[in-house]
Amino acid sequence: MSEMMKQPSSNFAVEVKDLTVKFGDFKAVDQVSFSVERGEIFGFLGANGAGKTTTIRVLCGLLRPSEGEVHVAGVGFEHGDYLIKSKVGYMSQKFTLYNDLTVGENLDFIASLRKMDQALYLKRRKELFELISFDRPLTWKVSELPGGIKQQVSLAAALLHDPEVVFLDEPTAGVTPASRARFWALIRKIAASGKTVFVTTHYMDEAEQCGRIALMRTGKLIALDTPQGLKKSTFPMPMYEFEPKNQLKFADITKLKENPAFSFFEPYGLRFHACTGAQDAWEKSRPEFEAQFQIKEITPSLEDVFIHLVEGT
Ligand code: ATP
Repeated sequence: MSEMMKQPSSNFAVEVKDLTVKFGDFKAVDQVSFSVERGEIFGFLGANGAGKTTTIRVLCGLLRPSEGEVHVAGVGFEHGDYLIKSKVGYMSQKFTLYNDLTVGENLDFIASLRKMDQALYLKRRKELFELISFDRPLTWKVSELPGGIKQQVSLAAALLHDPEVVFLDEPTAGVTPASRARFWALIRKIAASGKTVFVTTHYMDEAEQCGRIALMRTGKLIALDTPQGLKKSTFPMPMYEFEPKNQLKFADITKLKENPAFSFFEPYGLRFHACTGAQDAWEKSRPEFEAQFQIKEITPSLEDVFIHLVEGT
């Protein structure tokens, strides 16, 4: 390990080097390396079972790596998992709060687990309630809160001890689009205040709001870049939307997918997104395509990137 990695004052909020996590012979995370800068909104994306939650469990000091090393705010397992836990906040896919306790009881409980000083706890609680504009009585049971508000209180709970990095594992799963938008406005505020936000999501409109995105597939990191950078590197050739003039048969779609004119041809609602492949094949077949489809050039979306890199293979 280099001297720099040992310093708890690293410039990086998160450093992951050759991380492997095995469950028996199965590698849930396989030789993953990346780093996250302080104040970044870092998106961690992948299909179900790609190894995202396992990586987050390691970064929260909950699970030791089988191989490799991790540092969060400069702190690694060699400094003690308790110290890692003090640097991180975690909000899980399921709610972090007890439904049968009141909002106040939940936060009191978390503050006591975190061994927070009472005055500091009350100050942080007040600040965080202001941040999330929470104005309901503390005596309300968590089960009585609407989904979006419950999520915001969970976020406040994860931030209570003022962690440097907050891990949000699918924080907006199952809430309304308006609540998701409000939650992301909070994420931006938290990052602007200097905290690092490490977030997993299956919503591509949310991924677009990340500074950089890491894409995981079957335990491996397969891409890491800004949303724009990912689109450019995944689809260097022009992309088109193909709108069929007549209904297509399944066999026609299969043929188009296999046509060398395309490097990517995928359904998108009733239309198709197509990225050109071999130029000669594309030029040659273009009149034939134009007879069958309305064609217009488009900018690739992150959804296209995700389908191509994560689901397409
Ligand atoms: P999701 O989006 O569904 O949460 P994920 O990317 O977070 O998926 P992980 O939960 O990290 O994926 O799981 C990665 C793989 O490791 C999966 O195949 C999962 O079944 C397996 N796995 C996770 N935890 C354990 C465990 N404790 N024992 C055995 N296998 C595990």
